[in-house]
Amino acid sequence: MRKKAETRNVPITSLENSVLELYGLDQNAVESLSSTNLGDLVIINVTLKPDYPPCPRCGHEHPNVCNYVDETITHSILHNCRCQINYHARRYKCPVCNRTWYEFNPFVFKQRISVSTVVCVLEEMRDPAVTFTSVAKRYNLACDCSAHLRRSCPDPQSDDASPRAAA
Ligand SMILES: [Zn+2]
Repeated sequence: MRKKAETRNVPITSLENSVLELYGLDQNAVESLSSTNLGDLVIINVTLKPDYPPCPRCGHEHPNVCNYVDETITHSILHNCRCQINYHARRYKCPVCNRTWYEFNPFVFKQRISVSTVVCVLEEMRDPAVTFTSVAKRYNLACDCSAHLRRSCPDPQSDDASPRAAA
């Protein structure tokens, strides 16, 4: 008898590596990366290494790390399992002018949807038979959110089949 495939048994280390690959992140750019498998939800915890960018207001070149803010990003690397990135976003503070700002966030496109999720959603929506609702459900997104993506990011590979495209 054939053994039933364990679709949910995702090897965590390869998942972590694929997250790095997807976002074009080098191992050296990452301070810590770990993941927790909660059965139907995989949580990936990530902290990037500090790069101490100059102050955007006064240009001072030696900012301090102010604090960390946890940001949750819906991530759809897996179709059969919900995946969430808990990104520990670092905030800097300028000792001269007291300006605070976030480090560059390589994970989000808009409003906590990961870049790779956006790519997947747009790819699926090229099929005219696919509805926003079904895609949104599959990627654990709010429906209006997917529609917004579609409006704000026309697919560059589109063959202009849509009647609106030529307007
Ligand atoms: Zn400053």
